[in-house]
Amino acid sequence: SAQEQTLGFQTEVKQLLHLMINSLYSNREIFLRELISNGADACDKLRYRALEDDGLYEGDADLRVEIEFDSEAKTVTVRDNGVGMNREDVIANLGTIARSGTADFLKQLSGEQQKDAKLIGQFGVGFYSGFIVADEVVVRTRLAGTPAEQGVEWRSRGEGEFTVADIERAEHGTEIVLHLKEDALEFADEYRLKSLVRKYSDHIDVPVRMPTVQEGDEETDTTITWETVNEAQALWTRPKSEISEDEYKAFYKHVAHDFSDPLTWSHNRVEGKLEYTSLLYVPSRAPFDLYQREGARGLKLYVQRVFIIDDAEQFLPLYLRFVKGVIDSNDLSLNVSREILQQDPQVEKMKSALTRRALDMLGKLADDSEAYQNFWNQFGSVLKEGPAEDYSNREKIGGLLRFSTTHTDSATQDQSLADYVGRMQEGQKAIYYIIADSFNAARHSPHLEIFRKKGIEVVLLHDRVDEWLMTHLSEFDGHQLTDITRGDLDLGDIDSEEEKQAQQENAKAREGLVERFREALGDQVQEVRVTHRLTQSPACVVLPENEMGYQMRRLMEAAGQ
Ligand code: ADP
Ligand code: MG
Repeated sequence: SAQEQTLGFQTEVKQLLHLMINSLYSNREIFLRELISNGADACDKLRYRALEDDGLYEGDADLRVEIEFDSEAKTVTVRDNGVGMNREDVIANLGTIARSGTADFLKQLSGEQQKDAKLIGQFGVGFYSGFIVADEVVVRTRLAGTPAEQGVEWRSRGEGEFTVADIERAEHGTEIVLHLKEDALEFADEYRLKSLVRKYSDHIDVPVRMPTVQEGDEETDTTITWETVNEAQALWTRPKSEISEDEYKAFYKHVAHDFSDPLTWSHNRVEGKLEYTSLLYVPSRAPFDLYQREGARGLKLYVQRVFIIDDAEQFLPLYLRFVKGVIDSNDLSLNVSREILQQDPQVEKMKSALTRRALDMLGKLADDSEAYQNFWNQFGSVLKEGPAEDYSNREKIGGLLRFSTTHTDSATQDQSLADYVGRMQEGQKAIYYIIADSFNAARHSPHLEIFRKKGIEVVLLHDRVDEWLMTHLSEFDGHQLTDITRGDLDLGDIDSEEEKQAQQENAKAREGLVERFREALGDQVQEVRVTHRLTQSPACVVLPENEMGYQMRRLMEAAGQ
């Protein structure tokens, strides 16, 4: 056909296809979920664009996804009358992986890791999952609002190449035909397909239909009746009590483009001055681009059920960027844009309410220590950015933090500040901490000697962000947080009177020695002092109270300052 062109998949697509076909074999039914999800997204996009120009519906505003199969031809077809694609879109969307950083991430994977089905969830399996069950995939599509001759056909056997050609296509939207592999013929079956639609796509607000064909005879024509198979109501609009855990989980996978189950969620309808519904989820795995500037973040924004934007970043602070979900506002205007969102005072109010909501959700999750530990291991160091970014919630965030301490003497960060406070000694004035480059460096620091001797617990900080965190978290539950390597250490009432006296006498007796150190070290130090902190090491270096810490210095140096 006209303008046929054969192109190679981007290297990462080839790797991803390989990874997917090998790791998802036992889970291959998910291809249907992914293709329906894309069809529903395409309908959402068309509905949004049609707000400005309802000519884009081309007379067919009845948005839907249709599924058909043909057991003789061994095909399953998923079709939508959504926005569709032009030739450029097809090449960009079905030949590459848009997320930056994917190539680097894939390179880092060892052969062992590549067998892990969960890794694939990092990408959202998406369109390419068709190749788990099909040895050839054919896509026919046309962008809504373009002439019929601008249809495009894409086909591939998933082996490194695909072809695109111009076709004539009367309908806008997209049709995907899967030519099933011999061992996947089970999917060309009405009962199987219907049950998969119910299992995975009930929560999608677009109807998913399947045909029933009544063969005609001499007197009657063959008729096709379409039956809507899924519930077809946006999940967040339904009452909480009527939504099952499985439905919440399935919806998460659609919204977050994730393959794994979420850890927890929080579904709320807010009425009053501002009216909106939010459904927030905590994923169980960090995406590989969590720390990349351009990594995907934000909530899916709807206004009065109409999809508006995929990654609306304005509704949550950066330190909660791992939270996924939906917000559906009744007050915002339907033609709201990212720019407007940035300035809208309503959005600011929603943001602070949603932030509290998200923190409360984490607080509840903390009741389940195993689940919370899972959360912490994935996202803890992001949450540690919180006190710096969100001063007003720092106490709440402080309660959600987990650390290693000398109490457990383990690198696992699983102790809360509340745990620490509960173990504080009589007369102890502060929560003590030390920051080092690694857990072992913290644990073996000579500064700890006096604390170990006196049985006082010390928080052992060893994450890159810890110093940043501690410059913004100076207090918790009324207790000062004190760096044990800085300034003059006052252990308060824990030192007895005799001890204090002995310390003073000791200091006096060593004045001569101190003077010789001062002369020898000269300009290299600000001060030399006799210390009572050490029980085994002869000497240690301390920072003045208000000086920038070692980690921060290194960060600043690395940043060229
Ligand atoms: P994701 O849905 O996470 O973006 P997919 O691999 O599922 O990733 O799809 C890749 C892209 O291909 C989509 O973002 C979309 O732009 C395009 N696409 C896929 N299926 C359709 C469809 N049915 N209609 C329109 N565009 C589609
Ligand atoms: Mg998708």
